[in-house]
Amino acid sequence: MRAEIIAVGSELLGPDRSDTNSLWITDQLQLLGIELAAKAVVGDDPERLSAAFRQALTHAELVLATGGLGPTEDDVTREALARALERQLRFEPALWDEIVTRFQQWGRTASENNRRQAYVIEGAESLPNPHGTARGQWLSWNSRHIVLLPGPPRELKPMMLEHVVPRLRQLSGGKQRVRQVLRVFGLGESALDEQLAPIYRRHPEVLVTVLFSPLDLELHLSADDDRLLEPMVREVLEQLGPTCYATGSTSLARVVVEGLLQSHRTLSLAESLTCGLTGSLLSEVAGASGCLKGGWMTYTDDMKRDCLGVPEGLLQQHGAVSEAVARAMAEGARQRAGSNFALALTGFAGPGGGTDEHPVGTCFVALASA
Ligand code: AMP
Ligand code: MG
Repeated sequence: MRAEIIAVGSELLGPDRSDTNSLWITDQLQLLGIELAAKAVVGDDPERLSAAFRQALTHAELVLATGGLGPTEDDVTREALARALERQLRFEPALWDEIVTRFQQWGRTASENNRRQAYVIEGAESLPNPHGTARGQWLSWNSRHIVLLPGPPRELKPMMLEHVVPRLRQLSGGKQRVRQVLRVFGLGESALDEQLAPIYRRHPEVLVTVLFSPLDLELHLSADDDRLLEPMVREVLEQLGPTCYATGSTSLARVVVEGLLQSHRTLSLAESLTCGLTGSLLSEVAGASGCLKGGWMTYTDDMKRDCLGVPEGLLQQHGAVSEAVARAMAEGARQRAGSNFALALTGFAGPGGGTDEHPVGTCFVALASA
């Protein structure tokens, strides 16, 4: 089965918003062994969108559209598809009742333009949306399948997983690829590639994708079955050692928090460089209050000295961005917080600052423990 994705929204054509939905959907299709033939980004223009649907249906057996299911005038996906298929849109009183009730639960009243969201294309099945009022639609047309999904990722993802993936699995013969995600910290892309290239070559049947985030690398390995995947995963884990800090869906912050909770240890922070970002990342993990005691945002030398007890002499002699000061910050935080560990960060984030010895980009990270 060949698929095409259409991301709908004029905002996605500009530099401010990117179409992340289609990447996520592509990942889901890959797991189902469905080949993505093309994807398109189309503005909120009914004519153009109708044409995009007609074009997609000439070559793809599965067309998935995201966005444009809202209540406003610029949400035209329903109308555009109805027009492309020459089908009617039908008002469904039961869906309207559901929308009205939903608004009442939020302590608000549905407005007249929310009625648009109660229209379903003739012959389509409406897909529930527990997180919003934009229902999805699934319809079949000339042995092709078309799916309309809402734009907000937190509405799209559950709908896709609960109502679309199971149908697609059935259509694609029940075969589902297996996948393992490895999370890697402290290696750049080329260094990772160099270490793993020989392993890739031994396992041509495993598909490898590397994804970046500002914090780490994600290595996605997928294959037709576990028998093919597992030996490669084992080799990669062995090669990477501790730079692969976790597998599956987690984050570096979560691994740190869970590790501290399991070992009944506490952490405090002394942040100069990041000025609270580290604490913020850790605090996003549920349960962080059980191990993160708190910390200091000590951007200036004065604060490092007065709040953390970093000796004036050290600051004078080595400068705030130095190993000696990072160590003193961590030790000062640990003693003052009474935590098992303290993490300190100091560095030149740029664009200004920096010295010949320690240019912009230099960071020191110190961890104090008993
Ligand atoms: P819409 O359903 O078109 O009203 O979209 C509602 C919101 O969902 C938009 O303002 C975006 O923030 C988000 N959104 C829509 N399409 C996408 C997309 N393809 N990728 C990521 N976010 C999207
Ligand atoms: Mg939109």
